[in-house]
Amino acid sequence: MIEARTSALGPSDRPALQELLGERVRFDEPLAPYTSWKIGGPADAFAQIETSAELGDVLRLVFKRKLPWFVLGSGSNLLVGDGGIRGIVVRLAGEFAAIDVTRTERAVTVRAGASALMPLVVAQAASQGAVGVGSLAGIPGSAGGALRMNAGTDREFGEFVREVWVQTPAKPDAHPVSPEYFYRHTTLARDAVVAWVTLDFERGEAAAVREEMQQRLVRRKRTQPLQLPNAGSCFRNPPGDKAGRLIEAAGAKGWREGDAEVSDLHANFIVNHGAATASDVARLLARVRREVAERFGVELELEVHFVGVFV
Ligand SMILES: Cc1cc2nc3c(=O)[nH]c(=O)nc-3n(C[C@H](O)[C@H](O)[C@H](O)COP(=O)(O)OP(=O)(O)OC[C@H]3O[C@@H](n4cnc5c(N)ncnc54)[C@H](O)[C@@H]3O)c2cc1C
Repeated sequence: MIEARTSALGPSDRPALQELLGERVRFDEPLAPYTSWKIGGPADAFAQIETSAELGDVLRLVFKRKLPWFVLGSGSNLLVGDGGIRGIVVRLAGEFAAIDVTRTERAVTVRAGASALMPLVVAQAASQGAVGVGSLAGIPGSAGGALRMNAGTDREFGEFVREVWVQTPAKPDAHPVSPEYFYRHTTLARDAVVAWVTLDFERGEAAAVREEMQQRLVRRKRTQPLQLPNAGSCFRNPPGDKAGRLIEAAGAKGWREGDAEVSDLHANFIVNHGAATASDVARLLARVRREVAERFGVELELEVHFVGVFV
């Protein structure tokens, strides 16, 4: 049972948001539908933002009033607590979903808004022969989330980035930054909202690039439990090893807490059989981590981000 919660918004914050966003701000909005795990309690305010100017206005408001806020992408790497998220959850849409692909004889350039869906970005880039984009095939989520996470497989998003434009509460107009990229994280400031990115690829044979993309998608279907809600790999791979291999070797496949289960197909995935809560998943992750540490002396680090109130 979720206890009564206190909103982080004061009585004048709601009308101020409504004035900026009209019907595109909703209050006490459940977040489960916006995450790939289909888990998560309500946001005090859920703000769908469609232009850079609107984002600037909302960031000015949170700066002035010192309101807590969080930017949600496609929710494919998030465990949102059952108590939800206090403050404003920002979700980009509208002009932020734009994808523009251009090519020269030797190069393919993609300009993607932060809410552009990566499967569309990848498909459009592949159709122009963007060499290397196959490494990003099958990764769900948005371009902004991919940048924040430096998402990838054998090659990573950051390898292809030429330009990143962000907006922050202290500097709410779009401006360029140059983060560094590491395995599943970057030096992008915590309070920076990615507005758009430009990616550069070498140009090759489109048919070959598409073929590689297809092969990788087929392999994912075979090796990942894509029929049930999940958030991809829960733990980062430790240096020189695979988290999935360690979890499987620890005998954790099939372990269950409530409706959350360590996938039989891929041990680093936790699937939601329908009614799993964030607490179920958190308990299961803790159990898995403990077992791997006890058996192999390896402390697994989370790849999924925990956000909000865990009850
Ligand atoms: C089936 C499946 C397969 C997956 N396979 C892979 C894989 O092969 N490789 C891999 O790396 N990942 C993989 N993932 C994980 C996930 O898809 C990536 O981490 C993805 O990049 C997250 O993007 P998102 O838009 O869903 O971000 P979210 O989950 O919404 O957010 C993740 C983080 O990014 C931040 N963020 C989101 N948008 C912005 C923005 N505009 N500006 C600033 N910060 C932002 C959020 O605040 C949060 O901290 C997989 C997930 C699933 C469900």
